[in-house]
Order: sequence, then C-alpha cells, then structure tokens
Amino acid sequence: MEKDTIKTKMLPQKACLAVFMAAGLLGLAGLCLAGRTYLGGRNKNVMAFLRAPEKHPEYVLDALSRCGEAPFLLPSRGFVGYLWDDSFRLFHRHQGIDIFAGTEAGKTPVYAPYDGFLTREEGWHSSLIIRVPRDPLQPDRQIWLYMTHMADADGNSFIEGAFPPGTYEKPVFAGDLLGYQGDYSGNPVRPVGVHLHFSIVQDDGAGKYLNELDILNTLDPSPYFGFELNAKSLKSSEIPGCVP
Ligand SMILES: [Zn+2]
Repeated sequence: MEKDTIKTKMLPQKACLAVFMAAGLLGLAGLCLAGRTYLGGRNKNVMAFLRAPEKHPEYVLDALSRCGEAPFLLPSRGFVGYLWDDSFRLFHRHQGIDIFAGTEAGKTPVYAPYDGFLTREEGWHSSLIIRVPRDPLQPDRQIWLYMTHMADADGNSFIEGAFPPGTYEKPVFAGDLLGYQGDYSGNPVRPVGVHLHFSIVQDDGAGKYLNELDILNTLDPSPYFGFELNAKSLKSSEIPGCVP
C-alpha cells in the first residue's frame, strides 16, 4: 500500500526475517498475520469505501475534529481505513494511519494537527514532517509528525506553495493548511487510493527524526487523537472514531 518517500535500507533485522521466509519457517504464521488485515474486514471496508464513498458517510471523520481533550486535531477529512500496526504483506507492520478522502486527488485539504516546525526535504514530492519540540503526552521528548501522499500519480505536488522542497523549520500552527491528499506511490502506473498517511516518528536524541518506515521508530497515535487507532486493539469490523 505504502510507498513513502523517506529512504530506507535493509536492516539486519529485516534481512533475518527474509532468511526465515526463504526457509519457509514461520511463513504460515506470517501469512495468517498479514491475512488478518489483508483478507479481513479492514481491507474489505477500504475497498468498499473507495468504490462508493457516498454509501458510507458513517465511516467519515471531519478534518480538524478533536476527540475530547486529545492534543491532536485530525489532519484531514475521511475514513481512517488502515491503522497503526496493520499488516499489508508478510512481516509488514504499518507505521501510521491512512485517512482515505473518498475524493479525487488534490481536492481534500490536509492541515497541521499540532503546532510545530515544518521541514520538507529536497526531493520530497508528497511528504513533509513537523517537529514538535515537546511531545504533549511526554514533554521531555521531541517527536515528529510525518505526512505523505500529497501529490498526484506523476509526482506533481499538492503541498502548499509556502512549503517548497528545501523548507526547513518553518513554524506552523494547528489547523494551518498544508496541502491536499493525493495518490502518489512513486510508480505512475500503479497509484495508490487517494489518502493521507500520517505517522508519529521518534527523535534520534540528537534532533533528527528516525526512519519512519520501521514501526519501532514510531508511536501508537491512539492517545494523541483520543480514540483507538491500534490495529491490534480495534477489531477489523469496527470503524475508527471518537467514542463520546
Ligand atoms: Zn500508510
């Protein structure tokens, strides 16, 4: 599903897993894990929503909504179809949440969920990251909010002109317009469904974000939004949202 634009290299841990896979060991268990999302309700719901979003208004959460006293605003309108720690393939663990607009690319706004300092590295077509110096849930640490898929299939960016590639540490405030959801995947022939991928990335302790592609470098977003967004805690038949 994802083709996020933070670069990664094969980690020793992943190499180990690949060896296990090649040996066929644990393959069946892995298939079951992946199948829970991929063949189960979550994937079915996403496909049903993307086919006919107008038939599932009850799936949709409003942009900039806040659940109770939670620190973050929802950054975009749509159906939170895939959750943190969902699995799209063998041994894959999804590092964030995917909010599906149910609209064409370039139509559904994306906003800052919290105050911070925005960076868009050179070469980022569809991604940006916001540094939050004080984690609202653990103020002694810094966290990063990563958002991607804000470009069309060919890589034409939907990010606001105020944040061109090479933007570093530009102050943004909760609710500021950042861009629009897109379907960029890095492969024009196979775009993804229009969505925003959002993840909370940990700091390396020296003021730099860790590799977003490894779930171990990310945080469960549930407490930041005030509702269940952990794939292991929400049944695949349940629709994520604020419970009054
Ligand atoms: Zn995602």
